[in-house]
Amino acid sequence: MSRTFEIIEKEKHRQENTIELIASENFVSENVMRAVGSIMTNKYTEGYPAGPRHSGNTGRYYGGCEYYDELEEYCCDLWRQVFDTNYHVNVQPHSGSSANMAAYASVLNNDDTVLAMSLDAGGHLTHSSPVSFVSKNYCVKTYRVDENGWLDYKELENKIYTYEPQLIVAGASAYSRIIDFEKIRDIIDKAKMTIHGYNPYFMVDMAHIAGLVATGNHPSPFGIADIITTTTHKTLRGPRGGLIFCKPELAKKVDSAVFPRCQGGALQNVIAGKCVCAEEALSHDFTVYIHNVVRNAHAMAEEFKRLGYKIVSGGTDNHLFLLDLTGHNVTGHELQEACDKYGITLNKNAIPNDPRGPKITSGVRIGTAPMTTKGWGKEDFIVCARTINTIIKDIEEGKA
Ligand SMILES: *Cc1c(COP(=O)(O)O)cnc(C)c1O
Repeated sequence: MSRTFEIIEKEKHRQENTIELIASENFVSENVMRAVGSIMTNKYTEGYPAGPRHSGNTGRYYGGCEYYDELEEYCCDLWRQVFDTNYHVNVQPHSGSSANMAAYASVLNNDDTVLAMSLDAGGHLTHSSPVSFVSKNYCVKTYRVDENGWLDYKELENKIYTYEPQLIVAGASAYSRIIDFEKIRDIIDKAKMTIHGYNPYFMVDMAHIAGLVATGNHPSPFGIADIITTTTHKTLRGPRGGLIFCKPELAKKVDSAVFPRCQGGALQNVIAGKCVCAEEALSHDFTVYIHNVVRNAHAMAEEFKRLGYKIVSGGTDNHLFLLDLTGHNVTGHELQEACDKYGITLNKNAIPNDPRGPKITSGVRIGTAPMTTKGWGKEDFIVCARTINTIIKDIEEGKA
């Protein structure tokens, strides 16, 4: 066996023998892997299928694309079905970050202002981090969470009036509560009426919660936001990739921002995987799955509370929560390392106003999507919370 496949076998063994609690991960189906590993990887398909349904696009730059046109149109139709929407969709972004880069590029000029959730309140790197392109290309302002760990809509509103951002981004990577998109839309619309000539765009990045939106377990941003981005590999349980949805009038801008501005040839094997992912997301099984993911996150968070821990915001409405370790003599970093030794994979995560730096942190992020895929029920997650509690006690007593 080649070295490459030896490494893959070792990783397979790791995946089969550890408890995966990373909130942004999942295990894809055999069919998703078949599609992504298929011969659809062999072709250059720069451009888009031609025709009026594709913002008048003139088609592909290379010959021999007829089956890719069929595949990509099918993929777009499927995703509109999944989210029950008539929004335009671009299925080509290579990742969530690429989707965000193109989404920003479609409606912003350099040095325009973006208002998004700060990293330490739960936002993503591409929303506001100084190390991300977002801060290199645009002027970034942030809103945070209040003293209870809930999104601070009042602060968001104040910052709109202070900075008049051209783009307001809602969405997060480590926030366990429902985000009220309608409320943000109302705040934006009120600002538009109050501030003369102010006409910003509203973008929702639903990368983490897309599976919940698809199944009615989180309010939908469709019909509310101008642009919606997502990944397909988190709660949607598909291949690693991104999608951009937008109101039909922005279709041309979004398409040209993805290709040729931010990307070259699309990964058509991944688009085939996105088709399989959407087909699966439309199934009754997927609805049951997401329901269980949410129920399991709630059960595990409640067990931690019963064991005397704080959860950021006091609990969870979705597939993840942040365990607050302040008040315990252990850091997020220490807990992550100790859990690794017991085959439990989770990640350290800053909590709002974390007294420790981002490399140490006072929290860990826990998600239930991957282990629910592996068949875990409520009881399994409760037992796992107790195991983590034992590990924490061991660290505190210097035994771990
Ligand atoms: C994961 C995530 C992304 C980025 O996805 P990548 O595929 O890792 O680039 C973007 N936004 C949010 C909110 C995320 O959670």
